[in-house]
Amino acid sequence: MAQHEHDETAESRFIDDTTGARDRVEAHRARGTARPITVVGNPVLHHECQDVTSFDDGLAKLVDDMFSSMEAAEGVGLAANQIGVDAKVFVYDCPDDDGVRHSGVVVNPVLEDLAPDQRVLDDSNEGCLSVPTAYASLARPDYAVVRGQDAEGNAIVVRGSGYFARCLQHETDHLYGYLYIDRLSKRDRKDALRQMEEGTPKYETVPNA
Ligand SMILES: [Zn+2]
Repeated sequence: MAQHEHDETAESRFIDDTTGARDRVEAHRARGTARPITVVGNPVLHHECQDVTSFDDGLAKLVDDMFSSMEAAEGVGLAANQIGVDAKVFVYDCPDDDGVRHSGVVVNPVLEDLAPDQRVLDDSNEGCLSVPTAYASLARPDYAVVRGQDAEGNAIVVRGSGYFARCLQHETDHLYGYLYIDRLSKRDRKDALRQMEEGTPKYETVPNA
């Protein structure tokens, strides 16, 4: 196979989540309702979410509400359990390191393992709507590939680099019950929780019982 054809095949594995990114987001937001955000300590954030098996109107409504909630809280990604829904769904509206906007939804996401030569760690600041007002530096691979489904149940593969790769990993983590602070050293985690205690979120949160 010619090199050119080979490249095209590789490219077609991945969805185009940049063309019309803004219009997609606006359409979801127009239909959706913002819901309050769950925070660290809420049980729904700390266990693996259920697989999605019905690609129905209920799922479409959830996705709309997730885009609205993400906008209200000024996030770049949001997992369903961050609005209290125990289902493997995340949405994103996130720029990559070239400033290109990516938006979409991934249902039942699974992170692909990277080849050793693809695994370059990037040590950057990370935050989470469920750990309001806190930030910490966390090393993650600067490239990510996520397999899953769209809201209609079609198989999709999403890839990202830089900040967007961080987002894809962070959101997938959520749906398996992990927050980014769970990946920090004990001391950094404590510091992040202290920042959260001292800060006041700019968006509505769900009080912990
Ligand atoms: Zn988060």
